[in-house]
Amino acid sequence: MLKELPSVLVADDDPSIRKMLKTFLELEEFQVSEAADGEEAVSAAVEKSPQAVVLDVMMPGLNGYEVCRKLREHEKTRNSVIVFLSVAGKLDSRIQGFEIGADDYLCKPADPLELAARLKAHLRRNSIQKEKEAMLEKLAEKLAVMNQRLQVEAAADSLTKLYNRRYFLKRIEEEIRRSSRYSRFFCFLILDLDRFKEINDQYGHPFGDFVLKEFAAMLQGQLRGADLISRWGGEEFAVLLPETPLAEGKTVAERLKQACSAFSFPHLPPGKPTFSAGIVGFPEHGSSFNQLYETADKALYEAKTRGRNLILAG
Ligand code: GH3
Ligand code: MG
Ligand code: MG
Repeated sequence: MLKELPSVLVADDDPSIRKMLKTFLELEEFQVSEAADGEEAVSAAVEKSPQAVVLDVMMPGLNGYEVCRKLREHEKTRNSVIVFLSVAGKLDSRIQGFEIGADDYLCKPADPLELAARLKAHLRRNSIQKEKEAMLEKLAEKLAVMNQRLQVEAAADSLTKLYNRRYFLKRIEEEIRRSSRYSRFFCFLILDLDRFKEINDQYGHPFGDFVLKEFAAMLQGQLRGADLISRWGGEEFAVLLPETPLAEGKTVAERLKQACSAFSFPHLPPGKPTFSAGIVGFPEHGSSFNQLYETADKALYEAKTRGRNLILAG
């Protein structure tokens, strides 16, 4: 592929200077366009977004300083290299040029070879800067993806991939605040697999892990997208049913029980394992998580003592 030559706009009201600069700069492998006054310089620069602009200061209409100011304000020319080339060579004029936003200031008569060398140096610096910015942008994108992944991982239980207890606690606290504020209902359930130790003892711990994963997936499949399920720890699971009054929550819990008994876990006798659960409703069973949890846990304990495979409300 042919190398694309760097583009330079030469703005000068003197046609002979433009012609001379064009000839030299083309020999130095620039792609040169021309403008004969300030207005033309601005419109040509905005249209073509040249990589560099060589600007005379004294021109009819807009002078070079005004052109420079406009180019620095315009999105398409903000980052172009701007070099003044002027007979106005006094220190004040040069300083003014830099203050307005020029990258360089050469006094006429200047050696076109020096102009070309300076342009190349500025363009090199610009392209290094662009590479750095592109690299930083890529890094920032990668970081954002990694951050998101980390957040997902930090919220997940490693075995079942359900949410973990920490994330669940954060969400239920939010739900309590939201439901208090807008007078809404929700239900909280705590589930515990019955006689899980026997499964481990009989089939081994890895098989117990497998059952936990299957049970988690079964639960997930039964609930709505807005419901939140977490592995509370061990063989216990917590469920949050937003926007759900207690009576409706109890129906959902019974449905889970039926789904569990209909689910066939490899190697296990039909209907095994079962679970027991305690269910509470907000706001009737408490206004804080601790109150809700204590009541649900008591109901669960009661379900266990009454023989298991049972869901009781607080
Ligand atoms: P109960 O009906 O009273 O709940 O009886 P249980 O046997 O389920 O209850 P217990 O609290 O006595 O025992 C829980 C068992 O769950 C014991 C423990 O080894 C097992 N367990 C906890 N976490 C895991 C796990 O991550 N993987 C496996 N395989 N087993 C686990
Ligand atoms: Mg337990
Ligand atoms: Mg148990």
